[in-house]
Amino acid sequence: MSAIKLKDKQFVPFIAESTIIHKIQELGAVLNKDYDGKCPLFIAILNGAFMFSSDLFKELNIEAEICFIKLASYKGTQSTGHVITAIGLDIDVTGRHVIVLEDIVDTGKTLHSFLPQLHNQQPASLKIATLLNKPDARTHPVQIDYSCITIPNKFVLGYGLDYDGLGRNIREIYQLSE
Ligand code: 5GP
Repeated sequence: MSAIKLKDKQFVPFIAESTIIHKIQELGAVLNKDYDGKCPLFIAILNGAFMFSSDLFKELNIEAEICFIKLASYKGTQSTGHVITAIGLDIDVTGRHVIVLEDIVDTGKTLHSFLPQLHNQQPASLKIATLLNKPDARTHPVQIDYSCITIPNKFVLGYGLDYDGLGRNIREIYQLSE
């Protein structure tokens, strides 16, 4: 892995693909135990979580469903602080065991604005699973139930995460160079 340039920014290697896959396998094993017999509903937040949710879903050997919603708050390398719903939830979560899948929890604003909508529908349970967690960036409190990798407060891309639309196809995770 070597440094890459996307548009005006330089990124350096940060998390290897093998580490990401290993952490996802570990999470899959935990979820297989925690949700055995509960037929959970996974709600993956697009765009960033598409790769994580796909790889995680393949690790499940229990009955489970998945659906996708699209929320966005980022422009370039900064959160705009304003969350919009571009594709909404088209499935009834009442009485379901729900797990929301995020690529990364940063300020917490996205989940903070979305979770009350889910709570209103009275799911049987509601948990959050994220590939990456940036606790030092948090401005809105969010309880994360399953977190694969905790990272410092620096912009990252790759493995589904983008910089201005680019970099989602990169297999590893890169970090913005100083
Ligand atoms: P939050 O609402 O927690 O601040 O941010 C959630 C969303 O912002 C994530 O789902 C992700 O799409 C985007 N985001 C937050 N931090 C990063 C980052 O370091 N890199 C990239 N590419 N996106 C991020």
